[in-house]
Amino acid sequence: MRVAAHPELFDPDAESPTLRATRCASCGRVAFPPIAIGCDVCGALEEQLTPIAVEAAGVIHASATVHRHFGEPPTPFTIVEVRLDDGPIARGMGDPGSDGFSVGQRVAATWQVERVDDDGNDVVEPVFAAIEEVRS
Ligand SMILES: [Zn+2]
Repeated sequence: MRVAAHPELFDPDAESPTLRATRCASCGRVAFPPIAIGCDVCGALEEQLTPIAVEAAGVIHASATVHRHFGEPPTPFTIVEVRLDDGPIARGMGDPGSDGFSVGQRVAATWQVERVDDDGNDVVEPVFAAIEEVRS
């Protein structure tokens, strides 16, 4: 079984990573991580915020490769900030097999098994990797 490293942020049952977000019924703002105490843009109350699932896909907003770090994960690894297709920016891990990211590059997330827990479940988190640009 697959369980989420951060169940409040993503749904491990989805075949490809989807992120938990909220949409404001009043102004349309999509927030990730989800917000609970009211819209931070228009001030609408909590009741106006609907939980939604957004696809973990978008374009690279920024990336940073970490070369020195104590503990897990082993270095080097890359942290990426992705401007999701639905609007918000999500921060996550870059695919360890990637040879670097550039701003504007199209990426999508796949599940990566972080570890196996005591019950034998795969603990997963989304990892962003470059994908082919869809040309219209
Ligand atoms: Zn709003």
